[in-house]
Amino acid sequence: MAKQAGARHAGSRRAVFEHTGLEHASLKHTGHPQAGRASLVVAMERRLPAILADIETLVRCESPSSVADAVSRSADLVAALGRHHLRTEAERIVIDGCAHLRWRLGAEPGSAGGVLVLAHHDTVWPLGSLEAHPFSVRDGVLRGPGCFDMKAGLVLALHALAELGRAGQSGAGQLGFGQLGPGGVTLLVTGDEELGSPTSRGLIEAEAARCRAALVLEASADGGALKTARKGVSLYEVRAVGRAAHAGLEPERGVNATVELAHQVLAVAGLADAALGTTVTPTALSSGTVSNTVPATGAFSVDVRMWDAGEQARVHAAMSSLLPVVPDAVLQVTGGPNRPPLPASSSERLFALASSVAAELGLAPLTAAAVGGASDGNYTAGVGTPTLDGLGAVGGGAHADNEHVLVDSLPGRAALLAALIDSLLTEVTT
Ligand SMILES: [Zn+2]
Repeated sequence: MAKQAGARHAGSRRAVFEHTGLEHASLKHTGHPQAGRASLVVAMERRLPAILADIETLVRCESPSSVADAVSRSADLVAALGRHHLRTEAERIVIDGCAHLRWRLGAEPGSAGGVLVLAHHDTVWPLGSLEAHPFSVRDGVLRGPGCFDMKAGLVLALHALAELGRAGQSGAGQLGFGQLGPGGVTLLVTGDEELGSPTSRGLIEAEAARCRAALVLEASADGGALKTARKGVSLYEVRAVGRAAHAGLEPERGVNATVELAHQVLAVAGLADAALGTTVTPTALSSGTVSNTVPATGAFSVDVRMWDAGEQARVHAAMSSLLPVVPDAVLQVTGGPNRPPLPASSSERLFALASSVAAELGLAPLTAAAVGGASDGNYTAGVGTPTLDGLGAVGGGAHADNEHVLVDSLPGRAALLAALIDSLLTEVTT
């Protein structure tokens, strides 16, 4: 089934290349950028059958972050799509068994000032999810595990870059990425974002640090809003160690870990600051063994979210100096900052640029959303690189049964990304 669908769309993909010469030429900044960029939407509408076929290819290859073989198979497919669209081989970077892919387009090794386009190809969906949630496109709605977060966004990036590459085409079948400006474009596609990027974080931060902007293809917020601020995340475990004793015969000889944790749960919850949007949430908790024994040990987890780095530091200092309340109890606090905040200041200028680009393209005015969930955009902003997130598909239901993508919105989003990258690179060259 999948093979037939792919073959059917290959024909339309060739047709796209044959019929869009004008649109490509217009990207060369002939002095009429408005007319040139507006035609990008038409070019992307012609690409829509191929965009849908590529999303189908990726969604049908399940890629839960924690299954290395599955992530590796998915990386093979992403690499093949990139080879086709970008006519450039990916660097495959395997870290602790997890497969990440990197394309440096027009970028000289070690050069600075380029644009980082960031995506991930893993999902939260376990193997076998396709049985209950098969890939489908019906009434303009595309469904399937990981379609919204973020396989559609990844495909949009490939098509946006393919279009830009053809814009600088120098003949002989070579894509003209050399004309993309100093630093070029780096496309980084990681395989462990849904785990908090334990193996790719260093790679993401290193790439972001040498780029002047990071564009993140995470799913958009409600109604297609871009994500212009994300909360940072800190994670902790608070462990209490006491002493067991018979709860009937001699409870006074025990040191009660449950009572100690009760004090600490309330102390930790009190570190929140609603006015600043800092949440400190005690979550999973367990203590003791059986009902007639004073608990010797217990622990609870703490999820902390904040809008600015100062709050992250304040809570960390407080968590690090918790003191036991119950005599002879011992406290062990582990964990700390996980992802820094993506502050609104780091996306402000990029959002303004995206808004003006959207107007040039004739798209509806862009909207912005500040969200509590973190992404790899937190890491790129954390190293000081201006970051705009939520540039992926329009739809809803990330990580949920109703995960979906609105097909009609795909060409406009691909055009927006292409024009935004084009604008950023033009800024450098002019
Ligand atoms: Zn995601």
